Amino acid sequence: MNRRYVLRRLLQVLPAVASILIVTFAVVQAAPGDPVVAEGLRACGACDRCAEGRTNLCAAGYAETGFTHPGALAERLVVPARLVHRLPADRPLESAALLEPAACVASGLLEAGMPLPGMRVAVVGDGPLGLLALLLLQTASPAELVLVGGRPARSALGPRCGATRVVAAGDQEGLASLAGRFDAVVEATNDPAGAAGQGLSDDRLEDR
Ligand SMILES: [Zn+2]
Repeated sequence: MNRRYVLRRLLQVLPAVASILIVTFAVVQAAPGDPVVAEGLRACGACDRCAEGRTNLCAAGYAETGFTHPGALAERLVVPARLVHRLPADRPLESAALLEPAACVASGLLEAGMPLPGMRVAVVGDGPLGLLALLLLQTASPAELVLVGGRPARSALGPRCGATRVVAAGDQEGLASLAGRFDAVVEATNDPAGAAGQGLSDDRLEDR
């Protein structure tokens, strides 16, 4: 890619959120000074998976800002222009800091199908993705929105994110009371056992 932005770091947060300092090639979508956010994963944009829109499964070599390339802690950051998205100028940049993980969660929920109002939903995993899932799922007005988490400090944030109940992952009695109860279970533990290991998922979810 020839077109590149040079970004100036404004926030020491993920993903890269900044204002554009220099545009080296003419790009109509943004101008110097515009607030922008850059996708972290550097999908190639050319392989079959990328063409399908599944850039998370890009067949090219792994490349990600902050891991294989300098991250947003740098004074200036160069990223491919196709990964840059302009933000509304009248919104605080801090609120954009979690846009990328929020977009990942939203994409997954939309692909699986957002629950209908009144459904019973569980989220397994109290990391950032699990908590973001709660925030998005509560907009569907579920009858129950249960968080199962393994870290008390993280799980304590559950009610503020919309959880109607929080169950500790080590609470066998509490987990037993949840088995087979849900219309949808969101797995956000990054653990192959995940929701299945907690006994929360059922055939209906797996068939979706
Ligand atoms: Zn690709």
